[in-house]
Amino acid sequence: MKELIVGIDLGTTNSVLAVSIEGQIKVIDIHGQPTMPSCVGLDSSGKLIVGQTAKNQLIAAPDATILSIKRKMGEDTKVRLGDKEFSPEEISSFILRELKQEGERQLGQPLRKAVITVPAFFNERQRKATQIAGELAGWDVVRIINEPTAAALAYGANRTADETMLVYDLGGGTFDVSVVVVEKGVVEVKASHGDTHLGGDDFDDLLVAHAIAAFKARHGVDLAGDSKVQRRLKVVLERAKCRLSDEPFVAVREEYLDGKHHLEMELDRRAYEALIEPFLEKTLTCIHQALQDAKLIPKNLDKIMLVGGSTRTPLVHLLLQQRIEVEPRWEINPDLIVAMGAAIQGAVIAGETHHSILVDITPHTFSTSSIGFFEDDERLISVPIIPRNTPLPASKSEVFFTLTDHQAEVRVEATQGENPLAEQNTLIGAFMVEGLSKVPSGNPVVVHFDLDLNGMLKVTATEKNTGLAKSVIMDTRGAHVLNLDQARRNIDSLLGPIDSETVGTKQAESDGELEADAEPEEMLITAKDLRKRAETLIQKNVDLSDADEVRDLIHRSAEAIKNRDWNLLNKSNAALGDLLFYLED
Ligand code: ADP
Ligand code: MG
Repeated sequence: MKELIVGIDLGTTNSVLAVSIEGQIKVIDIHGQPTMPSCVGLDSSGKLIVGQTAKNQLIAAPDATILSIKRKMGEDTKVRLGDKEFSPEEISSFILRELKQEGERQLGQPLRKAVITVPAFFNERQRKATQIAGELAGWDVVRIINEPTAAALAYGANRTADETMLVYDLGGGTFDVSVVVVEKGVVEVKASHGDTHLGGDDFDDLLVAHAIAAFKARHGVDLAGDSKVQRRLKVVLERAKCRLSDEPFVAVREEYLDGKHHLEMELDRRAYEALIEPFLEKTLTCIHQALQDAKLIPKNLDKIMLVGGSTRTPLVHLLLQQRIEVEPRWEINPDLIVAMGAAIQGAVIAGETHHSILVDITPHTFSTSSIGFFEDDERLISVPIIPRNTPLPASKSEVFFTLTDHQAEVRVEATQGENPLAEQNTLIGAFMVEGLSKVPSGNPVVVHFDLDLNGMLKVTATEKNTGLAKSVIMDTRGAHVLNLDQARRNIDSLLGPIDSETVGTKQAESDGELEADAEPEEMLITAKDLRKRAETLIQKNVDLSDADEVRDLIHRSAEAIKNRDWNLLNKSNAALGDLLFYLED
């Protein structure tokens, strides 16, 4: 078997392991999740724990848990863990070792070689420290590459025309912006700027301060000096913050915060975004600086790529669009893209030539509609909820307000398409929410869209003040299938066509019986292949009852993936494989 060279994104907050297998980039689940918190700790028995388990004990055992060690890489310093001290390299090596062991377990083969990414602004010492951490963990570190370069590689930049792009990476601890130029297949960072102390952590701190002030105003108790309370709040508010990217309001409740009173508050996305805006302004200053360093102006940019968990904040997108006037891109999951790029680099070093990335996006925007003005006329306009190119699965909501006093019902529509006028887009479905409270106009109703891997859209509308809700599952595939080819072209144009040989073998494999104990990873690939074949088939107008059966099996497989029910996935793969074999003649 050919030796694999993996890619590792050793992040401040989260780390990711990816690998290229037969030309396809796969992110390896660590402890069941694609990203592993870069957190190291000792449990109550003094045993080393890494990842989510370590993060879980952050509140209970702050002295036995280490977070954000990356900020100290390259410094001549030690951190305390239990009764011992460790260098940043050593702590990082625990993270890298965990990735190695979990990766080997998942792939069922030894892993030795790795490409590890570092921020473009890392200096030589910091790079060297990263290399050492890798070696300590038992890796042969074949290359250290820049995170923005890796991101550019993952976007397939090395196989398209020459391009100038901006990589905007806003993670947990740091902000990094790089101007990347791709010329004749060579990806080069031209200028890089950033702020080593600007990221999601700072936003969490603002929310903590906000909560402490609200608690003081309500209960007269000042918890500002209590570090334990602060950690507790940071954990809940970070979670709430992430939800704010998809929902306009998030309720936060933390019981007995001071031992007597509960913290109960609601976060509002607009207010939150106003709070962090000064930080985002700083990132814009960095962009201008980086452009100036590269002797470019915004007009010279072909694209902006978003990297890092904090770029999910809607305001980031909006500010870049308004102020730099380049639409930022989202095609690849911003949490995983750096590791995927590192895996591509690894594959190139290992001598592989073909790569394709399994990316599922929605090629068209999903919107709801609302009365508004279009060219001075009052019309039903589209209000995008899930914009095109959003990676799947996606879940988003927006708030709407009733127009008249005592309005008892609202109609909720879901459409697919890019037209600002709702009627010009494809209507997927509509329903009424009845029995709203008798209140003046402006009664908020939250509309929530949930789009799964199969393109099934679940729409829920909830009257905010009463919780009155109605939820409908809509089958978007009729509209979706038409756009599949475009989606593929979109992906191909970014990444180059999939190697036909690889596709051939995969199909042959999935035609056969699946072993009951096959690896979930393999089953997932099979499920994906089967889905593609099934969609192509439905597009070719198979008999209606057959199409229903195919859809039903796709749905079962999606459920199985969602619930990580490998047994069920195995069964639905086999059933779908059989059915397709029979229908595909
Ligand atoms: P790093 O590169 O530092 O490891 P990541 O790219 O993993 O960081 O980003 C982690 C940060 O992204 C955290 O501060 C986290 O709270 C934030 N984050 C993750 N998901 C979201 C989201 N949906 N909305 C806003 N912030 C998010
Ligand atoms: Mg990162």
